[in-house]
Amino acid sequence: MQRTDIAIAGAGIIGLATALELAAAGMRVVIFERGHAMRECSWAAAGMLAAEDPENPSSLHHLSELSRSLYPGFLANIERLSSRKVPVRTTQALQAAHALPPHIEPLSPQAIQSIAPGLQSNGLRCFLLEEQSFDPRNLTEALPQAAIAAGVTLHQQTAVTAVIPQSGSVKIQTTRGEWIAAHFINACGAWASDLAGVPVTPRKGQIFLVEHNGPEDLRIALRTPQVYLLPRGNRRIVIGATVEDAGYDKQINPAAIAALHNAAAEFWPTIRHAHIVETWAGLRPATPDSLPVIGPVTGIDAKSVANAAPESRQNANSWLAIGHFRNGILLAPGTARLLRQMIFAEPLSIDVGAFQANRFTTSLAQ
Ligand SMILES: Cc1cc2nc3c(=O)[nH]c(=O)nc-3n(C[C@H](O)[C@H](O)[C@H](O)COP(=O)(O)OP(=O)(O)OC[C@H]3O[C@@H](n4cnc5c(N)ncnc54)[C@H](O)[C@@H]3O)c2cc1C
Repeated sequence: MQRTDIAIAGAGIIGLATALELAAAGMRVVIFERGHAMRECSWAAAGMLAAEDPENPSSLHHLSELSRSLYPGFLANIERLSSRKVPVRTTQALQAAHALPPHIEPLSPQAIQSIAPGLQSNGLRCFLLEEQSFDPRNLTEALPQAAIAAGVTLHQQTAVTAVIPQSGSVKIQTTRGEWIAAHFINACGAWASDLAGVPVTPRKGQIFLVEHNGPEDLRIALRTPQVYLLPRGNRRIVIGATVEDAGYDKQINPAAIAALHNAAAEFWPTIRHAHIVETWAGLRPATPDSLPVIGPVTGIDAKSVANAAPESRQNANSWLAIGHFRNGILLAPGTARLLRQMIFAEPLSIDVGAFQANRFTTSLAQ
């Protein structure tokens, strides 16, 4: 039986960001990935750091801001450790919404036309957000390599099959042997409920890339409540995304892609005849209230979520980092920082009350 300080299940952006954070704090970290690292939802994402999207739940605000503030250091660290570039692709978003947020000025019609000539606001209010995006595929190699360079042991094609609490540690059964860890973190994305009694379910997102031949290239993200257009450079634009309750199905449905393309063209008509280069889909990990679960579980074995009161934090050794739904790329560095603070019983950067697992305990018991 092998031993480690921290064992993590799931090498998506949440598991790997947490592994990096804990390795930097001096812990021995082992991460188990059932398939290949960064090949599930984190690979499929558009890559917007959409901290101010009006569609976000308001309880996400402080975690979004924490994560956003950590992002420059997070990416610089990955680039340094992996010797791979993760370029920022856009630094602003034109948001269209039914109402203006407080203290935000609308864009003038002239400003809108200079950003995206021909744009049809269709009765929505348009405003500018200082918001970055990058291509998550640039992290597919860089993030696992950075974690390995930081001293993390990554076991790919190794599924965690059971997690058994022991006195002061956790026994982890995998398809390639057993481990004892001082702490276990479930970062299994849309599959998290296989190992814990949490109501996390998959929400399918279909998304596609076009190459357009209109007169103007797009330099900033465009977003409405229905659709977003995200430039990747060289006249290539990502258009996304559906949010579907379709189980673990990742098939592409041409009618869904056509509907998204149409919604994009109603907003920015230049894109209507753009050539589709690639289509793909990913499974977002969703909870009933669309908020993540970040915190302790004491007794993960029997699919029961135990009370996660703050005073029990010091004794906890099973943790959840799941349910990041539409914002897991944005929320990864903040989630990793909070887990480090919880595991080391340090003061927390933000109030995590909204993210505790025990908010679902009552509904699970029914
Ligand atoms: C179309 C689309 C667009 C998106 N756009 C954005 C965006 O612009 N901005 C943003 O912030 N977010 C976006 N998201 C959401 C974001 O992608 C997710 O919230 C995020 O990737 C979740 O990361 P994760 O690490 O929890 O899950 P994943 O990346 O799915 O990783 C979980 C990993 O756990 C592994 N695993 C599962 N079970 C086990 C087991 N038993 N043992 C070992 N390993 C296991 C899986 O194989 C997987 O690799 C988008 C999502 C989609 C689908």
